[in-house]
Amino acid sequence: MSTVILRKATYNYDTLKPQIFEMLDFFCGSLIKKNSRVVIKPNLLTPASPDRAVLTHPLIVKASVEYVLQKGAHPQISDSPGTGSFDMILRESGIRDALTGLHVDPKEFETSLFIDIGDPFKHIEIAEDALKADVLINLPKLKTHTQMLLTLGVKNLFGCIVGLRKPEWHFRTGVDREIFAKLLVKIYKAVNPTVTILDGILAMEGQGPGKGGIPREIGVLIGSNDAVSIDTFVCKIIGIDPDKLLTNKVAKEMGFFNEEINVKGDRILEIKDFKLPQITPLVFGPKRLHRVMRKHLVQRPVCDDSVCELCEECLQHCPANAISHGRKKIHFNYDACIRCYCCIEICPYGALRAEETFPGKVVRKVLKVNK
Ligand code: SF4
Ligand code: SF4
Repeated sequence: MSTVILRKATYNYDTLKPQIFEMLDFFCGSLIKKNSRVVIKPNLLTPASPDRAVLTHPLIVKASVEYVLQKGAHPQISDSPGTGSFDMILRESGIRDALTGLHVDPKEFETSLFIDIGDPFKHIEIAEDALKADVLINLPKLKTHTQMLLTLGVKNLFGCIVGLRKPEWHFRTGVDREIFAKLLVKIYKAVNPTVTILDGILAMEGQGPGKGGIPREIGVLIGSNDAVSIDTFVCKIIGIDPDKLLTNKVAKEMGFFNEEINVKGDRILEIKDFKLPQITPLVFGPKRLHRVMRKHLVQRPVCDDSVCELCEECLQHCPANAISHGRKKIHFNYDACIRCYCCIEICPYGALRAEETFPGKVVRKVLKVNK
């Protein structure tokens, strides 16, 4: 049985700091020794200010750093961002300011080690610093995710795949969300975070996880040494079947999770009307029709040209080279697009969203395919 600690929380540092210390003490206090190398892995997807709810809040990062320093250990803040420079993210997120005066080493994940994570993926390159840390503190954000429904504790570790290897893995896992979920769970097990603390104080609903999502105050902080337990618990409090988050389902099938969770802390909350992104199955029906279905029936990325700044970030991160730059706007090649929605995730201006096609809506209704 795993343990989860839930705390009602705000970004008031006087009350937040003891809550973070409580969770770190409970889950990894005895593991952080003098001179331990402690890697702190927030969600640093893209440059964004705290009010956008895209990134882990700077005060949660700060409290974690202070805890590690108090133990006489060496904290290192690391991630491999989806887009934008690491320095710019630290500045715009407020993390750089929050850490003023603290002896800490922010360092982008750059080098990787090859790890055999088993079938069907075999060898995969994972950030060396994450693998070699004495203690890894995983600090995800509670957000929706256009491709995977939600991004929580398990998905946050995908940031341990360095740079453009991320879109490459999207491409290799193709359109099958369950295969991608399996990859995420295998990365999670390989990295094996010591503790996970989820920032659900200002969460994100709608078309997350980038700037297209809508911030929503939820007011919770959730900690555990088992990220799958946190992810399952979040599904329960926002009122969805935990198996709808495929990483939960896959973790159970792979024998990593048994669903018995001991919840400590504040009374369990129920979050009403949490707006999930629209998700349609990427392929369904007879296999020979999958390609045609994907092209015509599956929700596709679309651009709001009045918001697009033609910055070309989406072109650079599209694993299928399915986006091109016209004279005044970007164009999608929907034949080539594998519907990974990386472009939506990384667009710095929130100009992209996934939109269901008209034939897709009709066919889904006729075939009674659930969202
Ligand atoms: S859609 Fe977004 S990422 Fe792509 S060019 Fe426009 S602003 Fe840049
Ligand atoms: S266009 Fe967007 S959704 Fe399609 S493959 Fe490229 S990044 Fe993925």
